[in-house]
Amino acid sequence: MKLLKDVLLSEYTTYKIGGVAKQFVVVSTVEELSQVLVQLSRAKERYMVLGKGSNTLFDDRGFNGTVILNKIVDIEWQEESVRVGAGYSFALLGVQASRKELSGLEFASGIPGTVGGAVYMNAGANGLEVKDVIATVEYIDREGKTHLLQRNDLKFAYRWSMFHEMEGAIAGATFQLSRSSQAKQKQKEILDYRMATQPYKTKNCGCVFRNPEGHSAGRLIDECGLKNTTIGGATISPLHANFIENRGNATAKEIIELMSFIQRTVKERTGIQLEEEVRKIPFEESQDG
Ligand SMILES: Cc1cc2nc3c(=O)[nH]c(=O)nc-3n(C[C@H](O)[C@H](O)[C@H](O)COP(=O)(O)OP(=O)(O)OC[C@H]3O[C@@H](n4cnc5c(N)ncnc54)[C@H](O)[C@@H]3O)c2cc1C
Repeated sequence: MKLLKDVLLSEYTTYKIGGVAKQFVVVSTVEELSQVLVQLSRAKERYMVLGKGSNTLFDDRGFNGTVILNKIVDIEWQEESVRVGAGYSFALLGVQASRKELSGLEFASGIPGTVGGAVYMNAGANGLEVKDVIATVEYIDREGKTHLLQRNDLKFAYRWSMFHEMEGAIAGATFQLSRSSQAKQKQKEILDYRMATQPYKTKNCGCVFRNPEGHSAGRLIDECGLKNTTIGGATISPLHANFIENRGNATAKEIIELMSFIQRTVKERTGIQLEEEVRKIPFEESQDG
């Protein structure tokens, strides 16, 4: 494990946006993750855990702390469950489970994050979320201690988990699946539909806003006629209005300006306040929350 200096964060997010991290470390095992957390804790160093950066918007100045890149990718298949490291690709897990005729994670195949990011966000699609299939989560606290949290210990809500209020890191998870000969077909249909309706080939971070109760954020933005609206290098996707694309060298500032413009317009025209789904990571701790 090496603490790297001044690593460009735009290389590690699907938006391809973000300045440099003061420190950057890659962890490949639970032991490494635990050691790093202990060291950073002792040094009172600010940190954040990064998966595939597919729901993260870093500041243009970067991150004045340590970014821990999670590459813990061990995997163990059981008869009707799978235990997997938090750095494993959630999309790949969905595809592999379906190929093994294991049902429950078909929805994951279009979500380009890690297992850790998916648990943290309670990622979901097609009517299912992580909370519906999770069995256990391995969690390392700031002191480096491992906790095996059972399904009943876990709290989830729409695009939220209890980990938003905790300071450690998710190291791994077990998902409970069930046998189904339809799994592969279902997974393929889900992926085909998503490819046709969402901009998968551009630089974006998925849905920018959460769906307000009883509404689709994308539909509200579309009905306000905002598709294709552009600020600098940031454009509202013509394919799906809840996606903002980085069409060139968009800055975080431009993405945030476009987000504010969408929120103002939708509020004025519909009275509905859109809440952010994307995780904006401030440069300084004082800007947090
Ligand atoms: C094209 C596209 C389509 C998408 N479609 C969907 C969708 O259908 N449904 C959906 O829910 N999301 C979707 N997303 C958003 C995103 O893929 C998910 O939120 C995903 O779960 C994020 O995982 P990640 O590893 O990229 O997380 P990151 O962006 O790396 O991190 C997100 C947050 O999780 C925290 N985190 C990550 N790993 C850990 C860990 N091991 N321990 C503690 N905290 C951690 C980070 O600190 C950060 O706050 C989409 C994104 C894209 C680009």
